[in-house]
Amino acid sequence: MWSEWMYSIARIAWIPVTFSKAVYRVVRAALLGRTIYVPFEVQAERMATCSACLLRERRKCGVCGCKLMFKTSLASEECPDLSNRQWDKYDG
Ligand code: SF4
Repeated sequence: MWSEWMYSIARIAWIPVTFSKAVYRVVRAALLGRTIYVPFEVQAERMATCSACLLRERRKCGVCGCKLMFKTSLASEECPDLSNRQWDKYDG
């Protein structure tokens, strides 16, 4: 019970960190003139992969807590599962 509670708090506290890092990567890509959004087909492929992923929690990634609709649309994002990365950053 206590460990589940602490785990939940840690997960909630981690979301602003991962969100800030994602925003940083988007701003950095924009400043460097890189692609910000992936083409529709790439996002659809990423979403299909996430839909079949056991780590998905409804519309969010269970690892980083990001909303998958946003995460999969950004070129600077990649699957955060370090032991089994299922999709990579998009280079264009
Ligand atoms: S981003 Fe990776 S870990 Fe997260 S739900 Fe998608 S495939 Fe799973």
